[in-house]
Amino acid sequence: MAERTNIYIYCKNDEETLAKKTKVREALIHEGFQMLESHEEANIIISLGHDGTFLQAVRKTGFRQDCLYAGVTLDNKPGFYCDFDYNNVWEMIHLIRNAELKVRQYPLIEVAIDGRQPFYCLNEFSIRSNIIRMFTLDIIIDDTLFETFLGDGVIVSTPTGSTAYNKSVNGAVVDPMLPCFQVTELASVNTNSFRTLGSPFIMSGTRRLKLRVHRDGNDFPSMAADNEAMGIRRVEDVEIRLSDKKIKTVKLKDNSFWEKVARIYL
Ligand code: NAP
Repeated sequence: MAERTNIYIYCKNDEETLAKKTKVREALIHEGFQMLESHEEANIIISLGHDGTFLQAVRKTGFRQDCLYAGVTLDNKPGFYCDFDYNNVWEMIHLIRNAELKVRQYPLIEVAIDGRQPFYCLNEFSIRSNIIRMFTLDIIIDDTLFETFLGDGVIVSTPTGSTAYNKSVNGAVVDPMLPCFQVTELASVNTNSFRTLGSPFIMSGTRRLKLRVHRDGNDFPSMAADNEAMGIRRVEDVEIRLSDKKIKTVKLKDNSFWEKVARIYL
């Protein structure tokens, strides 16, 4: 598999992880792979750690479209984005070396705040009240006002992000083969003045969603892209759509999305 021999490993910098990184590195070099110190020329980016590390690996390397990501957990705990574990890393190396790897694609959402340069999320974009008070948002679908929300915030998740934060607030688990994204409320107030649907809803990937923050002077909501808090505090419009981009990951054979869901949650 000549065109896929450059490998970059992303991981945390603690002593235990670095020791395991050295072992994985040695094994890969032994099998003839070239190890890189930066990701730009890599064809394969290995994340060593859990799903949180995988989210960071993808974000810090710029959601690359021209390479494969491979998630390797370090403690035998099943990971959602990670098909491999440190103890079966040989299996991954064998798959890559013999070009037997299967590829899984994960959809991304694209988010633009007040017309700025869009950014991507693999799990979800969340916007929530930063202080004890609630805040108000218009939820606009394809330029039409759908509802006005008062409460703690909303989560807009990709199909795979739906199994993380969004699932905790009773969102649906969504098959990542569906081109869609999901909106879930965080503690909405429903009165005669404010009424929301009250249930999560899943939108086609062709829709455009806009969240318009009512600016009454009190609210500077916190926003996060996956596991990274955003520095922007003043926000008016957030535009979200399903991206054309997808993250490609190395997949273990016989490890479908639904097998993973069953293994992790049931
Ligand atoms: P964290 O707060 O340290 O851990 C969040 C947990 O979610 C970890 O157990 C993580 O798995 C798991 N996780 C992350 N992405 C997942 C996915 N797509 N499917 C299933 N489980 C997933 O944060 P983190 O590890 O950096 O992960 C950030 C994510 O945490 C956010 O993107 C959000 O989805 C989620 N989150 C959840 C809640 C909640 O459920 N109440 C609140 C805030 C954020 P690992 O242990 O394998 O890393």
